[in-house]
Amino acid sequence: MRTIDVEVLRSSITGPVFGRDDEGYDDARSIWNGQIDHRPRVIVRCRGSADVVQALGFARDNSLEVSVRGGGHSYRGASVCEDGLMIDLSGLNEVKVDPNLRRAWAGGGATMANLDSATQEHGLAVTGGVISDTGIGGLTLGGGMGWLTRSLGLSIDNLASAEVVLADGRVVRASEDDHPDLFWALRGGGGNFGVVTEFEYRVSEVGPEVHLGLFFWGMDDGPDALRLFREVVPALPGNGGALVAVSLSAPPAPFVPEQFHLRPGYALLVAGFGSATEHEKAIAPIREGLEPLFEFVTPLPYVGLQSMLDESEPWGAYAYEKALDLEDFSDEVIDVLTEHAGKKLSPMSFMPIFPMQGAFTSVGEDETAFGGTRTPHYVCNMTATATDEGTLDLDREWVRDTWEALRPLSSNPGGYVNFMTDADEDRVRSSYGPGKYDRLARIKAEYDPGNVFHLNANIKPA
Ligand code: FAD
Repeated sequence: MRTIDVEVLRSSITGPVFGRDDEGYDDARSIWNGQIDHRPRVIVRCRGSADVVQALGFARDNSLEVSVRGGGHSYRGASVCEDGLMIDLSGLNEVKVDPNLRRAWAGGGATMANLDSATQEHGLAVTGGVISDTGIGGLTLGGGMGWLTRSLGLSIDNLASAEVVLADGRVVRASEDDHPDLFWALRGGGGNFGVVTEFEYRVSEVGPEVHLGLFFWGMDDGPDALRLFREVVPALPGNGGALVAVSLSAPPAPFVPEQFHLRPGYALLVAGFGSATEHEKAIAPIREGLEPLFEFVTPLPYVGLQSMLDESEPWGAYAYEKALDLEDFSDEVIDVLTEHAGKKLSPMSFMPIFPMQGAFTSVGEDETAFGGTRTPHYVCNMTATATDEGTLDLDREWVRDTWEALRPLSSNPGGYVNFMTDADEDRVRSSYGPGKYDRLARIKAEYDPGNVFHLNANIKPA
């Protein structure tokens, strides 16, 4: 193996640089999925785009593979290379907000928590994920869905521009006016096109107080609960968010009656962004439709909503996932979901299902590179999460079996690129469809012809 001179690299970088023997190396290479144990030759914690340029130059000169770490939430560990150079953006997490312009500028390594806390100081927010330590980098580049999808669309639908360090070291700003092809590709095409050092978002009024309604039914009520979701979720007010959870084990939390702790079942979580009265009106059909085992209805701060599920997906858990799109909770889909729901082993494994409705559907199919259609549908994610390898092995099979059984009923078996542990070429192509994939491949050929950025849901240069 060729030796590399880490000191030379260190002297050109303003942030810390970790070689394999340096203190802090193991912390720097650890990511959310505890199963990933990749060992880069060197990790560069960048403080700005100039550091990224230097790191890329060093990797090129030394023929090192490159990985880019935003928040480290990729299930397959795409952000940590084995043996190569890891560009760590976690120190680039500053967020600035201009409430008059309704804009927020966030460093490429910021987390949802960084973004939400800064924007909420002004009662503003942008669509993001439902776990607060997820990086906005990977999340936004793949699409970005969460509680605000029905009211504001995806994170990418609210992206105004991005500063990008390209494979050849150029630093460009991409927007509707500058490098519009690159800007299109960044909105859904993942980390294929360069290192985004800053995201500029349009932000909207949200909270700071919002409303939650959580309803939980037991396994026996599965078919009726899913039929109820089919009716009530699309009918929620336009400013309401929702998340369906199949095979969820009720958490041992204070708001769950003790006799139901860890009981598996079906949950519907509704987020209200209007008044308490509007929220009561929105959740009334749920209560009337099917009596839950328990419910929890409360006002809470928006940042509380954004972090309330954190404990269910803890840092260091062993994890695997697969996803696909479902047009609806048809009777056939309900049969498959209820047949497989009871077969998981780990209390942490479950199927979070995201409704893609409302504002999400008002964006044109080809306006962004998002993989999947803009017609109303559900993104059905199947996640195996455990604290030990043996349990993960069993629940990985549960995920695969469930996915196989749902596949014939799916409108897009490729699914959302951010929910792909196995991002083989067929799945990536299927997620985007041939038209979008070919356009992305042409843009890739222009901005990254050597496929430097390939540790992602990779698009091969045309
Ligand atoms: P990383 O592992 O750091 O990066 C993932 C990929 O993006 C890598 O290929 C990396 O190279 C690239 N990348 C990251 N940052 C940059 C950057 N600044 N410039 C260029 N490339 C970059 N998704 C949702 O839409 N909604 C959710 O609610 C949601 N919840 C999740 C909950 C958990 C517990 C987990 C593990 C994932 C969740 N996801 C969700 C999926 C998430 O969007 C993806 O895992 C995403 O890739 C995470 O981004 P990251 O920056 O944290 O990951």
